[in-house]
Amino acid sequence: MILVIPDHNNNSFDISTFNLLNAACKFNSDIHVLIIGENIKDLAYKISKFRNVSKVFMADAPHLIDLLPENHADNILKIANNYTHIIFNDSFYGKSIAPKIAAKLDVAPVSGVMNIISNDVFARTMYAGSIIAHVRCLDPIKILTLRSCSFDNKNINNDINNCADIENITVSSDLQLSKLLKEKNREISSSIDLTEAKIIVSGGRGLGSKENFNNILMPLAKKLGAAIGATRVAVDEGYAPNSCQIGQTGKIVSPILYLAIGISGSMQHLAGIKGSKTIIAINNDINAPIFNVADYCLCGDLFDIVPKLSSYL
Ligand SMILES: Cc1cc2nc3c(=O)[nH]c(=O)nc-3n(C[C@H](O)[C@H](O)[C@H](O)COP(=O)(O)OP(=O)(O)OC[C@H]3O[C@@H](n4cnc5c(N)ncnc54)[C@H](O)[C@@H]3O)c2cc1C
Repeated sequence: MILVIPDHNNNSFDISTFNLLNAACKFNSDIHVLIIGENIKDLAYKISKFRNVSKVFMADAPHLIDLLPENHADNILKIANNYTHIIFNDSFYGKSIAPKIAAKLDVAPVSGVMNIISNDVFARTMYAGSIIAHVRCLDPIKILTLRSCSFDNKNINNDINNCADIENITVSSDLQLSKLLKEKNREISSSIDLTEAKIIVSGGRGLGSKENFNNILMPLAKKLGAAIGATRVAVDEGYAPNSCQIGQTGKIVSPILYLAIGISGSMQHLAGIKGSKTIIAINNDINAPIFNVADYCLCGDLFDIVPKLSSYL
């Protein structure tokens, strides 16, 4: 049996949920969903109507409102032993709670799964995305974090005839081990979520300043209806908020079109953009590594090229 633990904000599911459910279907087994949060009855009802979901558990309590592994883990452990696979999104939440659950169950988690080859063999990237390894997991309970953008969400639909049982998990109210005091870096970078974006305009150190980053990239992104991304250097230099960072320690994206502007193409950045269908790179260094992976290479000064590009659109 498979247990899926989705990311959500207590009102709606993260878009990755449907990719996770689709991926879970590959195991040809019963799919259960556990939702942990506050006032999540509507979410539980919604997911109970999804095809292939046969049971929904909910752990509903005020101290579970934030996606904090310390508070959530106990609720997962209450039912974990009933499952062969426990699936999380490869998000900050999934990546922080999966190892905690795995340690408590004395098994090894498999993170960043890009493909399910069989019930116990999973494809995942290693060495910052430079190789894709097929890993066999022999543990009785397989704890997986899935890169949701590697799985489609096409076959997951509402099925009016499906009505999975919904069961409450008894929550220990005294188990509040951590508390979210303040959310920082919640600056909205663009209205489009990077992990869902079809087009991404992404900038690096080549932009030189926050002002340039905004003045050069924003008009192009606006015309293309694109989300804004950034390298870690661009984030560290304060050109863009943390939520824009793409790469090994940022977000993994899979747009149809990725524009890499003033980005050298370090392996850590490439680890996050491997799923892009088409990459266009703009760089004034003919030897920039990004040109080795780009489908279209524009060698020149971004301060000339990008405004011209924006004005043509
Ligand atoms: C453990 C670890 C994790 C990391 N995780 C990440 C991660 O998640 N994401 C990430 O991005 N990085 C990550 N990094 C950092 C990574 O190694 C690189 O330092 C970073 O990606 C480089 O960013 P950049 O391309 O913006 O800067 P640079 O490498 O400095 O490249 C700037 C590019 O801009 C070009 N340029 C300059 N001026 C112009 C101009 N006028 N016109 C056109 N082109 C111009 C230059 O030719 C150059 O190629 C990580 C590093 C480590 C060690």
